[in-house]
Amino acid sequence: MNPLEKSKSHDKSPDKAPKKPRKHIRKAGQLDRNEMSELFKMAQLGNQPEWFPEHLHITIDDGPYPHHLKKILQVLDRHNVKATFFLIGSMIESQYRKDPKGTRKLLLKLLNKGHEIGYHSYNHCHNQRVKNCGGKTFESLSAKDIEYDIEKFKETLEKVLEICYIVKIGRTPGGKGRTRRAVSDAFRNQNLEVHKHWHDEPARRERPRDPKKYHELKKDHILLFHQKKETAKELNDLLHKIRRNEPPPTTPSPNPPSSQ
Ligand SMILES: [Zn+2]
Repeated sequence: MNPLEKSKSHDKSPDKAPKKPRKHIRKAGQLDRNEMSELFKMAQLGNQPEWFPEHLHITIDDGPYPHHLKKILQVLDRHNVKATFFLIGSMIESQYRKDPKGTRKLLLKLLNKGHEIGYHSYNHCHNQRVKNCGGKTFESLSAKDIEYDIEKFKETLEKVLEICYIVKIGRTPGGKGRTRRAVSDAFRNQNLEVHKHWHDEPARRERPRDPKKYHELKKDHILLFHQKKETAKELNDLLHKIRRNEPPPTTPSPNPPSSQ
């Protein structure tokens, strides 16, 4: 049965109802000052290097797929670039069941490196054929259903991390229904910013964009990648090109000629 439908019937059957956070997980208010500052650092996207275009944002959807994710993190680390990972709640859960320690370690590493985790739904019901969606798409959900989905995502993430991580942004599966009132209401009630839709998916471009263009951006430009086998290499190539095409630093102009 679709777990999202359960929220309506208030069915609390143990296998499908959202799991409550474990008792040893402390909420933000129970942490000391050092822990709070660590938590604050982890809840912010880290600073980008100077050569990285100010208006460019890298977002990576789906997963976690540990094998691909590890390679993507290595590439980002090599370039010291930070990205936002929109993860799927049920994928976090299934990886955790297979390997609790490894999944926790990997997601904590992601945060410790200055990347950010965003909500990308619990079951990724971008169409009716997706397993566990009960024939319902994310687009057809009410604001209450979406809130329930967000809560379930947050609880799963918190259970895996064993710390209180503040999820600040979200992206709907496949970008579906992002302009719907139900989505904006649910996101606002759950203190999530609806992440702006992506502008560009480099892996799907027939001809790559001229990397100089990224340095000429005047407003936010969001790139979309997915956790796939080829993503680490694509990202590495792209970041190399962007870095190589960095405009030379502007040198201060010589002293203006004297007016006399
Ligand atoms: Zn997705």
